[in-house]
Amino acid sequence: MTSSIGRDSPIGSSSPIGRNSPIGRVVVLLGAPGAGKGTQAQILSKRLGLAHVATGDLFRAAVRDETPLGTVAKAYMDRGELVPDTVTIKMLLERLSKPDAAAGILLDGFPRNTAQADALDKALAEAGGSVDIAPYIEVPESDLVARLSGRWICRAEGHPYHEQANPPLVAGVCDIDGSELYQRTDDQPATVQARLRQQLGALAEVVAYYRDRGLLKPVDGRRGIDGVSEDLFASIAAATGTQG
Ligand code: ADP
Ligand code: AMP
Repeated sequence: MTSSIGRDSPIGSSSPIGRNSPIGRVVVLLGAPGAGKGTQAQILSKRLGLAHVATGDLFRAAVRDETPLGTVAKAYMDRGELVPDTVTIKMLLERLSKPDAAAGILLDGFPRNTAQADALDKALAEAGGSVDIAPYIEVPESDLVARLSGRWICRAEGHPYHEQANPPLVAGVCDIDGSELYQRTDDQPATVQARLRQQLGALAEVVAYYRDRGLLKPVDGRRGIDGVSEDLFASIAAATGTQG
């Protein structure tokens, strides 16, 4: 990934989104940390033909590659805080300018606050697009800690597993790409508490943002992975005119 730090185009004023072709369907997958966004985005992006864009994955790749962006992001991620909007929005808009986004995007982990939601709307409007639907995976706060502390993800692509709920076929190995599984440092109990404390308030504001615009679709995230997928697929298909 290319870091954008050091270059200075104002956010949202010269969005590269849709430069080559109009933006397609836009799905914003909402949920608390550990609600199952990455798990569902992986399944649904394939089924719906959408590009899966996860800002957490972009930041982790930057940290792994030791880019300037990664150096900035790591300090915030280690504390369980949101990375500043200027950095995050610029990174997201660069990602959305890639050719695969033209077919449509499934956003996972963005927007995380209303400033980010505004910036997204503005950039999409400049490209003649808009958010189609914001499905909200609802999971009680009391379940999130168990989900996060049992999570393992793969080194290659970040595919998520869970020790009990969704174990890999072979312990420590990704079913999909064979890479090693590891536990995220920010899934340690102390950081999990910090993330929930610092991020749930902003999530509530983002949920209200999309509810006010008639785009929110709450889905019960306490069900098994397949059941949640079916509910999400039905909602997204109805909102985007996708054939089941
Ligand atoms: P997020 O991307 O929202 O942070 P993940 O998709 O990484 O969440 O899921 C968090 C953890 O919960 C993972 O370990 C995942 O395997 C597990 N998980 C995801 N969906 C479910 C579900 N419906 N029921 C139980 N566990 C789940
Ligand atoms: P996630 O993989 O979505 O749980 O994100 C991991 C961490 O990356 C978060 O705790 C934040 O520090 C950072 N992050 C991811 N997405 C965003 C975002 N949209 N805005 C700010 N920080 C983010």
